Amino acid sequence: YQGKHGPTGVIVYEPDSAQHPNHSLVVQAELRHALERDELVLHYQPKLELGSGEVHGVEALVRWQHPERGLLPPSEFLPVAERSDLIEPLTTWVLRRALRDQQEWTAQGLDWTVAVNISARNLSSLDFARTVGGLVSESGVHPDRLHLEVTETALAFDADAAAEVVHALAAQGLSISVDDFGIGYTSLSQLRSLAVSEVKIDRTFVAGLSDNEQDRAIVGSVIGLGHSLGCMVTAEGVETQDVADWLQDAGCDRAQGFLWMRPAPWTQVATALQNREPVSAGSSDERSAR
Ligand code: C2E
Ligand code: MG
Ligand code: MG
Ligand code: MG
Repeated sequence: YQGKHGPTGVIVYEPDSAQHPNHSLVVQAELRHALERDELVLHYQPKLELGSGEVHGVEALVRWQHPERGLLPPSEFLPVAERSDLIEPLTTWVLRRALRDQQEWTAQGLDWTVAVNISARNLSSLDFARTVGGLVSESGVHPDRLHLEVTETALAFDADAAAEVVHALAAQGLSISVDDFGIGYTSLSQLRSLAVSEVKIDRTFVAGLSDNEQDRAIVGSVIGLGHSLGCMVTAEGVETQDVADWLQDAGCDRAQGFLWMRPAPWTQVATALQNREPVSAGSSDERSAR
């Protein structure tokens, strides 16, 4: 960024930086308002059992219904939240909303688990485990209905603190998933010592399954690895029937992807799944999710 070390080692801002408002600071201020004004929304994508085709649960994916810029994907604002203290209220908001929605679909007879994505910074303090515990008991949702997805990168970020927080979450009966598995740095011994119940294979490997021999070898061994750790294995980003068939033959347990459904507001997901009709592309967030 624009700055120079002054004589005391303190960063001195160049005068011209005032003429280039820091985009990230603008987004940060706007996002703070967005949280207050309830402009965030959750879309959900089902996780299916590859064998039976049954819906196991749904993953909550946050979007920002921006008053001027429209529906924004997480890539537009999550990095800013993660660099500031905003990630804490944001994650709390997502958890509260996801738990509330889970209660509503349970009342409609849909026994789905709900998965919420957790950022690296959330795992830096045990307060987070207490916050989640409080939200879950407040909501009345059974703890095993809530899955927390943490990326491999988040587990490696501050590994000791993260392990402690993950243990505390698992001790409360919550299920832990390792997201984007295969691209991070989790060591096998770290994974074995964490109470992880699911690994999710990153979609960059899944996309290549139909024609890339190397990706097939990687995904095949990740499935074996996940099972030997006692985990369910979920593939993300499944877009074609060929890939779904390959995964099922390779012993993968569950899958998510545009092949079945794009993320959409839960009322649409519920209607589509109850009627087993695909959500029409126009009603979901197809464009912004890419
Ligand atoms: P993720 O948790 O790995 O989620 C999967 C992403 O892949 C989602 O993007 C989803 O829309 C997209 N996706 C699903 N199926 C397909 C497919 O078949 N093809 C392709 N090309 N994409 C597919 P999205 O919603 O943009 O989210 C991106 C990332 O942002 C998530 O990756 C997650 O790491 C993060 N994220 C989303 N919501 C939250 C949240 O509430 N809190 C936190 N901390 N992170 C979140
Ligand atoms: Mg995820
Ligand atoms: Mg993922
Ligand atoms: Mg991913």
